[in-house]
Amino acid sequence: MSFGSAYFTLPKFKYIKPRSVDELLNYLSEYGSNAKIMSGGVGVIAFMKERLISPDYIISLSDIPELKKVKNDGETFEIGANVHLSELEYELVRKTVPTLFKAVKNIADPTIRNMGTLVGDLAEAIPWADAYPALLSLDASLEVMKKGSSKKVPVNGFVEGLGQINLKEDEFISKIIIPVRKMRGTYLKFANSSEYGLATVALTYLYEEERFNLVLGSITEKPIVINNADVNWDFKSDLSKNIEKLNAYIDSNVNPVDDLLSSSKFRKNIIKYLTLRAIKEVFSYERN
Ligand SMILES: Cc1cc2nc3c(=O)[nH]c(=O)nc-3n(C[C@H](O)[C@H](O)[C@H](O)COP(=O)(O)OP(=O)(O)OC[C@H]3O[C@@H](n4cnc5c(N)ncnc54)[C@H](O)[C@@H]3O)c2cc1C
Repeated sequence: MSFGSAYFTLPKFKYIKPRSVDELLNYLSEYGSNAKIMSGGVGVIAFMKERLISPDYIISLSDIPELKKVKNDGETFEIGANVHLSELEYELVRKTVPTLFKAVKNIADPTIRNMGTLVGDLAEAIPWADAYPALLSLDASLEVMKKGSSKKVPVNGFVEGLGQINLKEDEFISKIIIPVRKMRGTYLKFANSSEYGLATVALTYLYEEERFNLVLGSITEKPIVINNADVNWDFKSDLSKNIEKLNAYIDSNVNPVDDLLSSSKFRKNIIKYLTLRAIKEVFSYERN
């Protein structure tokens, strides 16, 4: 990830390593406007070297045990703010939230996944990143804390644009919360000589509720969420008829960006191809 800068050193900053969430919240309330939270540091360190940010304080999450937990109580699947991406590459995650498992596998390479966290990938707010579309398809929420209070906010709407998130200076994300339901899901990514995708598709099908969320990522500044109601999907009808309706919807409503990496037309063709593959993978499957 380089923005072509000539800097290779870090600017001066004070490094703070709280041992508990309460201690962290005190620091945030005192230094919030001059501080940056750091989970894995993959993005923070790169952005500081590029002089895109120069905070006076870096507040590390690495010594707070509470933020390193993954919890599944059958109702919700919760991922702490300092859980590394590689810690989500195991069987329980694949069975419980398959869309997320497959998205994580598509992020960068094992070295980056060992350092980076899911919360960090989301909070970095890169429009081409993989965490946000996958979490949108899963109806995920965030626990946002500040000194004296905490609230649960939907992931939908959290990323406002490149580098912009819906979070105040004295707040931080303590965990990601995903409702556990019977589901099938997939995540497909088309990348061309870059770790980030030119087009991505996250699909989560809740077969007991007969509904799905299809999220088209990397083709516009914010991911596009399409659900079964948007396309009048008829679960009792032929898959091919439903696919026709979905294609018609994408043709009329989805306008990918045109940039140096790809034309809008190419991205649209790719997104339709990935959508078709995702639908076939998730729906051509015996229910169990
Ligand atoms: C070579 C390379 C390839 C990559 N390829 C991909 C890819 O294919 N797909 C993809 O999706 N990503 C990719 N990335 C991005 C990478 O996955 C993220 O940089 C990483 O996951 C960020 O996590 P982190 O824990 O290191 O975040 P940090 O660098 O610690 O933080 C990132 C941002 O999130 C904020 N933040 C972190 N934690 C919190 C919190 N708890 N509350 C509030 N704000 C917080 C920080 O203040 C900072 O602004 C790539 C990065 C590199 C360097």
